Amino acid sequence: MMHLGFSIAKVKVGSFDFTCCEGCQLQLANKESTLPEFLALVDIRNFREISSEKHDDYDIALVEGSITRSDEIERLKSIRERAKVLVAFGACACFGGVNSLKNRLPQEEIVQEVYDGKKIETMPSTRIGDIVTVDYHIPGCPVSKAEVERILVGMVTRSPVSLPKYPVCVECKQRLNTCLFDLGEVCLGPVTRAGCDAVCPTGKTACLGCRGPAEDINFPSFKQLVKDKQLSEEEMREKLEFYNGFREYLDHES
Ligand code: SF4
Ligand code: SF4
Ligand code: SF4
Repeated sequence: MMHLGFSIAKVKVGSFDFTCCEGCQLQLANKESTLPEFLALVDIRNFREISSEKHDDYDIALVEGSITRSDEIERLKSIRERAKVLVAFGACACFGGVNSLKNRLPQEEIVQEVYDGKKIETMPSTRIGDIVTVDYHIPGCPVSKAEVERILVGMVTRSPVSLPKYPVCVECKQRLNTCLFDLGEVCLGPVTRAGCDAVCPTGKTACLGCRGPAEDINFPSFKQLVKDKQLSEEEMREKLEFYNGFREYLDHES
């Protein structure tokens, strides 16, 4: 259980975006049916999707996005200094996210191509935990609003907060889905952390691992499964690299 250094009454929350699509922040702002309860629980100090208020005092900082410029490093460090608890919010912040696809390409060249020849400073997409200490990770692309609310309520009431430890396959089986491996597709469900209710395989789309690795995964056994099913190892690698969540496992191999 985390020990937080703030009082139970109205926790001050700031939400900040770096390189990202802001989809995770929108998830919080979107579900209007629970927004009033959420706003009653917290004191929003900085959250541009929800409020025009901008203050520099906050207990919890939700940090969305990965880091791709040097000025972002400085801004992130100053948020870290102010926050009692810093949360990596979404796959971009937790792992580098889909932005990490650009890390495969020559950085300056690709930016100039996108921005019509203009020279714009850029660096490889970096997860925020490589730059500052992260107290808590909430993965997903986007995050699940229900999960974020549950975790924030846990923090505010000082109750234990945790993510599911088991893989997506457990939720997929609970939904009685036909396994995509049996339909000839590589799915990352066996190695990815549950908590999304297996939304992709339920829609007949393979899991791409946006919630990162489940706990105590058997990675060699997953690779063996792909081999045994005579599926493409290249496709498996592509999927594992998509959100950069399995970097440690892939680095370990090379
Ligand atoms: S994790 Fe996904 S939804 Fe969230 S900011 Fe990154 S790209 Fe957008
Ligand atoms: S479809 Fe994917 S998540 Fe569902 S059981 Fe098969 S491997 Fe697991
Ligand atoms: S099924 Fe996989 S890719 Fe889809 S939301 Fe869940 S963890 Fe993310």
